[in-house]
Amino acid sequence: MTTTPTKAQIIDGVALSKQLREDVARRTAALKTRGVTPGLAVVLVGDNQASQVYVRNKVKACSDAGLHSVLEKYDASMPEAELLARVEALNNDPAIHGILVQLPLPAHIDAHKVIEAISPTKDVDGFHVASAGALMVGQPGFWPCTPYGCMKMLESIGYDLRGKHAVVIGRSNIVGKPMALMLLQKNATVTVCHSATANLKAMTLQADVIVAAVGKRNVLTADMVKPGAVVLDVGMNRDDAGKLCGDVDFAGVSTVASHITPVPGGVGPMTITMLLVNTIEAAEREATRLEKLGNISK
Ligand code: NAP
Repeated sequence: MTTTPTKAQIIDGVALSKQLREDVARRTAALKTRGVTPGLAVVLVGDNQASQVYVRNKVKACSDAGLHSVLEKYDASMPEAELLARVEALNNDPAIHGILVQLPLPAHIDAHKVIEAISPTKDVDGFHVASAGALMVGQPGFWPCTPYGCMKMLESIGYDLRGKHAVVIGRSNIVGKPMALMLLQKNATVTVCHSATANLKAMTLQADVIVAAVGKRNVLTADMVKPGAVVLDVGMNRDDAGKLCGDVDFAGVSTVASHITPVPGGVGPMTITMLLVNTIEAAEREATRLEKLGNISK
């Protein structure tokens, strides 16, 4: 007797993004009635092709949701001091509530120094050490957009993380580590794997939830997944035909997992969406602060 393989439910990042962006648009309209138009500044230094596409998408997503956005493009030769001065000017610009400096930066610029120059109140990418610290101790701050998007995807399927075992593959500062902290905050038991993990399969086979954030195709295959696990694929790679694909063997893992995110159309769109969510959040906090000071008319 043959058994028909089950098919995992797709967690559709495009559809979920649409819902969340509609909510951002509503919150933007409400904020405008309080005299504040949320504003995002995107700073791009150099001509990295992928970065150009990312910033264009971010700016377009802002205008679609009614947010004000400014794209500042600079030559790759821009001195670090000049970039730091631009960040400082944006910190002091009342029309800007969120600042995003697109990474990577040219080699002569210290990216860490630039990120640290952004005011934590405008750090909508969530990369500032103040944001990382706030996430670690469970205080309000800004969560990095990609893992934040993954959390929203779990929320969208009503997944209760309490007591579940989550395995995160990858420990970068922008995805893996904050992802682990967010899962922990929701009472999952978390294992973080990386390039020195001795037996990745032994770890992933124990997982109720797996987040793959490595940047290598087929890091996660069907034989590494417990039946019924939820699999979130953060990776962005190219297959042999040049098509965008994730870290997960989608076809294989789909026959074992209960839920899975596709690439494209999964975590990717959620990342930009959470940037909008963080920006509207930053603007709402600022509006409330100013209202308390009595500085703006109602
Ligand atoms: P990263 O900084 O290169 O980190 C990759 C992580 O994977 C590292 O922690 C590394 O371990 C680990 N790793 C490498 N090989 C491994 C292996 N064989 N087994 C287990 N772990 C391994 O990358 P990132 O910035 O976190 O991004 C990860 C992927 O997500 C990339 O494909 C990136 O393009 C994608 N991404 C997508 C979005 C989105 O919006 N969809 C956003 C951000 C990133 P070590 O620490 O030991 O080196």
